[in-house]
Amino acid sequence: MISVEEALEILLSNLPERRVEQVGFQEALGRVLAEDLIATCDVPPFERSSMDGYAVRAADVINSPVKLKVVGESRAGGEIAPGIGAGEAVAIMTGAPVPEGADAVEVIEQCEIGDDAREVRILKPVRLRENIASRGSEAKAGAIVLAAGHRVGPAEIAVMATFGYERVKVYGRPRIAIFATGDELVEFYQTPRPGQIRNSNAYCLAAQLRLIGLEPDYLGIVRDDREELRRKMLEGLERDVLIITGGVSMGEYDFVRDVFRDLELEILFSKVAIKPGKPTVFARRGEKLVFGLPGNPISALITFECFVRPAVGRLCGMTAPELPRMHGELLGDMRQSPGRTAYMPAWVTWRDGGWKVEPLLWKSSADIVGFAGANAAFIFPKNRDLLRKGEIVEVMLLPDFFVRQR
Ligand code: AMP
Ligand code: MG
Repeated sequence: MISVEEALEILLSNLPERRVEQVGFQEALGRVLAEDLIATCDVPPFERSSMDGYAVRAADVINSPVKLKVVGESRAGGEIAPGIGAGEAVAIMTGAPVPEGADAVEVIEQCEIGDDAREVRILKPVRLRENIASRGSEAKAGAIVLAAGHRVGPAEIAVMATFGYERVKVYGRPRIAIFATGDELVEFYQTPRPGQIRNSNAYCLAAQLRLIGLEPDYLGIVRDDREELRRKMLEGLERDVLIITGGVSMGEYDFVRDVFRDLELEILFSKVAIKPGKPTVFARRGEKLVFGLPGNPISALITFECFVRPAVGRLCGMTAPELPRMHGELLGDMRQSPGRTAYMPAWVTWRDGGWKVEPLLWKSSADIVGFAGANAAFIFPKNRDLLRKGEIVEVMLLPDFFVRQR
């Protein structure tokens, strides 16, 4: 059985080319840039005052307090002010061009304005270029301001507006289909008869995708029937990525693997040393990726985060879509039978100067209720059978970690 790391390596070396598309710059929010954006002009485009005050010649105010003659005003968006000579100053506002001849801006707090505003008394010397942002000091025309691979957030949108980018190239979003398998499944709006349960996995996986910014097509519940599975798989294969839950274990009615073979999918791995989630299957057909995730709710959730996220995140252009990890102190003894890397639900908080990992009680990989309070999963190394209270363990933060409350 391959390890989680080996499975990831196989996965990442089997990803198709990413699609690129052009979108309006505001629609680029949350997407990944597929082109370098260059500065289309200098920023600032002129010598810009960063304070309200008076534009002066630094040499004139070395022996301040001194009186200067006010020869004009420069305000943002106003007329260009006249240049200044020795003994002269121009009243200036934040964001306004510094007039010719001036080489510093004295802040308003160090200026006493004369009665008729034609004179100003400068109280303190100012350094050469103080409070002046020189032309091109933030970006020189032609320089790369946002490199391809950059994920677009609010500040990047502002950069695009600054340089007049109306449309930009971003990586496409993969189209994703999900279906659930199992004769026992009914939908959430139905009342299960004896022996039936409601399908929860399809909705959990869809929610996990939505947190990455992807909206999947849900294709419904498929019975444990080879022909029905085959038809639904063909429908799912019209998308870029197909995610199936259930039917990958070793039971009499677990037909997903068989149908993968019927459809001549290339099975790249079909068992991983992970707990929960051992029977996870990853296959491809040409450019299409197919994931067969186990039916147990936590298995589906964890294998999505460990395998589906790294793949679909990269298809969206992300360079590191994996969930962040950190170390924390385990607050209780934990046991497991060794052999597989285990992911166990935890509540992680910052307390007394360190991250604390509180293991949550859960019954099994079927126990979605027990998992529902977790903000992280701590990782039980596969060669260990006991982790002691006080040990430092590795934790994988769940995608909504930073906004979770309890
Ligand atoms: P399977 O992987 O099909 O053998 O299913 C393993 C367990 O997960 C069984 O107890 C199923 O009833 C349950 N299960 C399968 N699919 C789902 C689903 N979509 N939602 C909730 N539970 C499921
Ligand atoms: Mg099943």
